[in-house]
Amino acid sequence: MKMYDVTATIYEGMTVYKNKPEKQPKFNTVTNGYVTETRMELDVHTGTHVDAPLHMVVDGDTFESVPLEDLVGQAKLFDLTDVEDGITKADLEKFDIEKGDFVLLKTKNSFEEEFNFDFIYLTKDGAEYLSEIGVRGVGIDTLGIERDQEGHPTHKTLFGDKIIIIEGLRFKEVAQGEYFMVAAPLKIEGTDASPARVLLFEGLR
Ligand SMILES: [Zn+2]
Repeated sequence: MKMYDVTATIYEGMTVYKNKPEKQPKFNTVTNGYVTETRMELDVHTGTHVDAPLHMVVDGDTFESVPLEDLVGQAKLFDLTDVEDGITKADLEKFDIEKGDFVLLKTKNSFEEEFNFDFIYLTKDGAEYLSEIGVRGVGIDTLGIERDQEGHPTHKTLFGDKIIIIEGLRFKEVAQGEYFMVAAPLKIEGTDASPARVLLFEGLR
C-alpha cells in the first residue's frame, strides 16, 4: 500500500495567500536550556486546510459542523493540469463524477512553489455542476478555490449544498485515480477553517 502525503509544510516563510505578510505563521520558541516550547501563531487558512461555511457566509456554520466522516473515505483525483485559467463545467464533464464523490482537482498549481496571482481556480459553473451531481467535497491545490470572483459564488454554491472545501493541497506526486483519503483537521470549535493533514492511500478501500 502506498501513501501520499498531500499536505503543505508549515514554516516561517512558506507560501501564503497573495504573499500577505500578516498570513505568515510565526513560531516563538522559548528555551531555558533544557526545556523547549514553541508557541505558534497561525491563520486557520494556512497551507492545507478545510474551510467552514462561516468563511464566506454571514452567520454561517463554524468549523465543528464539518463532519469528519465525510473527510475520511474514497476520493477521486482528476488531472486538470491542462486547464489554463478557471476549471469549468466543460472541463469536469469529461470525468466520471458521481453523487457522493469527494473530488480532488489536480492543476498546474501543484507544480509551483511560489504564490501565482493567476492561479487555477474553480469557476461558478464548475461549482454548480458539482453541486448538481451532489459530491460530498472538493479539494484543490490552490490556497483559494476561487480567484477574487465578485461575491464569491464558488464558495457560496458549494457551502449552500453542504459540500466540503479543502484548499492548499499538493498533488505533484499523485496521478489521476481513486484513493482512500484521510483528511484530518484540528478539532477546533468556532472558527471558519482549520489546517489539516491530508493523506491519500493507494489500493485501500
Ligand atoms: Zn480557505
